[in-house]
Amino acid sequence: MAESVNQHIKPFNTKRNSKGNLEISGCDTVKLAQTYGTPLYVMDEVTLRKIANEYKNAFSSYEKVNLMFASKALMTGAIAQILHSEGFGFDVVSGGEIYTLLNAGIDLKYAAFNGNNKTYDEIENALKNNIGHVSVDNFYEISLLNSIAQKLGKKQKILLRITPGIECHTHEYIQTGHLDSKFGFDLTQTDEAVRKIQNECKNLEITGLHAHIGSQIFETKVYYDEIGVLMKELKRLNDTFNLNLYEINIGGGLGITYIEDDCPPSVDKIAGVILTSIKDNCEKYNIEPPALYIEPGRSIVGTAGVTLYTIGSSKQVPNGRKYIAVDGGMADNPRPSMYGALYSAEIANNKEDMPLQTVTVAGRFCESGDILIKNIELNSPQSGDILCVYNTGAYGYSMSSNYNRVLKPAMVLVNNSQSDIIVKRETYEQLTQNDVLVREKVR
Ligand SMILES: *Cc1c(COP(=O)(O)O)cnc(C)c1O
Repeated sequence: MAESVNQHIKPFNTKRNSKGNLEISGCDTVKLAQTYGTPLYVMDEVTLRKIANEYKNAFSSYEKVNLMFASKALMTGAIAQILHSEGFGFDVVSGGEIYTLLNAGIDLKYAAFNGNNKTYDEIENALKNNIGHVSVDNFYEISLLNSIAQKLGKKQKILLRITPGIECHTHEYIQTGHLDSKFGFDLTQTDEAVRKIQNECKNLEITGLHAHIGSQIFETKVYYDEIGVLMKELKRLNDTFNLNLYEINIGGGLGITYIEDDCPPSVDKIAGVILTSIKDNCEKYNIEPPALYIEPGRSIVGTAGVTLYTIGSSKQVPNGRKYIAVDGGMADNPRPSMYGALYSAEIANNKEDMPLQTVTVAGRFCESGDILIKNIELNSPQSGDILCVYNTGAYGYSMSSNYNRVLKPAMVLVNNSQSDIIVKRETYEQLTQNDVLVREKVR
């Protein structure tokens, strides 16, 4: 099987240039840091389009496939436009993600609305803009959605989000398919949900089932099993309620290579397992192949992204660790402090001949837990060096905050020796624009 993008740590065209500096798609990262400042998110368009095409090719034999990018991994107007140009639709979970799509000129018919507590306003706006599907998560939402659809005079296509009861071996917080999860209907509740929709909800049309089993997944069997659960339930509900459910959405979750030890399956491999499971279950239950929706997030944008930082201070603990501090940290990438996530990095400027030192990369934020990478070997890091942290495209910018009132970094897109700003660096004016100052007290 061919290697895929998600099995690499670095973006596709990463190398040392004639100056010895790290270069991505023809752009010198040291120059990027000088031009745009640090911290800087860099997205490589070549890698992004390459993985998008890997997904398209891997599923090309299955006519009824719909690739939906899970927006929460990284949502900006430019990223949405690029993925849409590659034929992707979008899994959205908020009014903000919906607004970003509309703002980028993307029709909401290519989007599916997920989440366990969508608000009235978000649902109303989604329906007004003719969203493709809504994934209904719970009983409360069935009634809410129906009343909004009724008010707008619409018949809304819905999928029922179910909890398939599949455990996958990933971090507890990013595991979602196990039974004790906040997402979706338990399989013992689907009858009641369908009955409620059939009897009370004239403005809802249930077309299929949705599940998502977790994130940063390296196993393939969990997908085979998940599809088995979805198709068995599809068949059972169709028979019991005389329905014609014809769609399954299997969620996302394919893992990527953050460090050498990570070994996620290739996109081809995972696609093979998914399509085999569909085929086997169609035979087993004697049903037509369903329309298939898949929602990868991390594996689409993760590898294409790196973050550039400038190294500032350092601290040698007597008889202990050496810390080097960078000008970013948990506000631009909360994953290490939140999940203990691991990353690879190297010095971007020409230092490959300098001796390796084991150091711990600390962030600049006021939390002892703000450590980006523990015990990594770097070529004699010192103040002024540019550090390139790999695989930050997913869940970095999208989870970023203004903690310590630090400004959110800019993001540039690189391709063919050209770099373009796709998210501007925040300014202090923007940071304080919603502050309302107290009036002076009248004594
Ligand atoms: C988070 C999520 C995804 C994407 O997960 P990745 O691990 O980023 O691929 C897809 N679908 C749903 C419903 C999700 O919650």
